[in-house]
Amino acid sequence: MLLVLFALPEPSFSGVVLLYHHVADDTPALTSITTAQFERHLKTIEENGYQVVPLENLVQTSLASFTLNKKVAITFDDGYKNILTNALPLLKKRDWPFTIFVSTKFVGISKSYLSWEDLYYLKQNGATIGNHTHSHAHLVRRGDNEIEAEWLARVESEIITAKEILNTKGHNSGVFAYPYGEYNKEVRDIIRKLGMIGFGQQSGAIGPDSDPLILPRFPLAGAYTGIQALKDKLGSLAMPLETRYQPPLITENLSPTLLLEFTDPSIRVENVNCFGPGGIMEVSRTSNTEILIKPKQELPVGRSRYNCTLRYKDRYFWYSQLWMRKNTDGTWYKE
Ligand SMILES: [Zn+2]
Repeated sequence: MLLVLFALPEPSFSGVVLLYHHVADDTPALTSITTAQFERHLKTIEENGYQVVPLENLVQTSLASFTLNKKVAITFDDGYKNILTNALPLLKKRDWPFTIFVSTKFVGISKSYLSWEDLYYLKQNGATIGNHTHSHAHLVRRGDNEIEAEWLARVESEIITAKEILNTKGHNSGVFAYPYGEYNKEVRDIIRKLGMIGFGQQSGAIGPDSDPLILPRFPLAGAYTGIQALKDKLGSLAMPLETRYQPPLITENLSPTLLLEFTDPSIRVENVNCFGPGGIMEVSRTSNTEILIKPKQELPVGRSRYNCTLRYKDRYFWYSQLWMRKNTDGTWYKE
């Protein structure tokens, strides 16, 4: 029997973006990596031959095609002071570029946050400053007394206000990161209208089929900072899927199925593994190029994700989908 195996031209790489918040030993574990572990990450990047490049450059080349070079971009969300005190010395030593997504209202607001002077200094030392809204709002949440047009105007104003403030401080980048990694169709459309590139917090690598308005990043904090896991993420490949927008907010169906359609018919779709709430998920093949993924249990209130990988030699194709579920009484979950 002739076995047709999916084969990428060798070598082949996708764009990988790493996401950090705090780099410190005394901040909340869920959003932190210790300084020592962060240094181990940088050494791992170095020792495995990855080139650290500016975020926009990585996106541009990765969206165009699978690439011949191992490239990675480093991002930090929220603009904490420890990026200057703990991360910068390690990055600067290597002369590596990085991106900091800041909510402009919080710049310099307390000792925990970077000031405008800090951001200027960081920019002189390789940083790009990106847009993370003005007040770090939950953009998808429409207020109780807000009509749709008011909500959308507020969302747009969050982003434009931040953009204008950043511009006056000399930061003119077109990159945007959704606070909490939360998006929906309306908010995504605003990012499109403003001509920006959008980043979520769902895992995965960037390839030609990625949605430039909700690009994946690998969050590295708490339990997810191990070195082998980092190596798997650095080497990950964008899953060759039809670009299809899947609304993340669930209402009626609390165990949503996810359909993945592969663009390459030689991919052995039965080998895709998915994890979600409840552990390993049921994957059924609906055609040669399609699989349907079902969770083992209802999704919990709050944010959750389906994470799918497909082993390829010693590497993984990687794709992740965000879900959001409100409280049973229809109110939003607390952060
Ligand atoms: Zn944030």
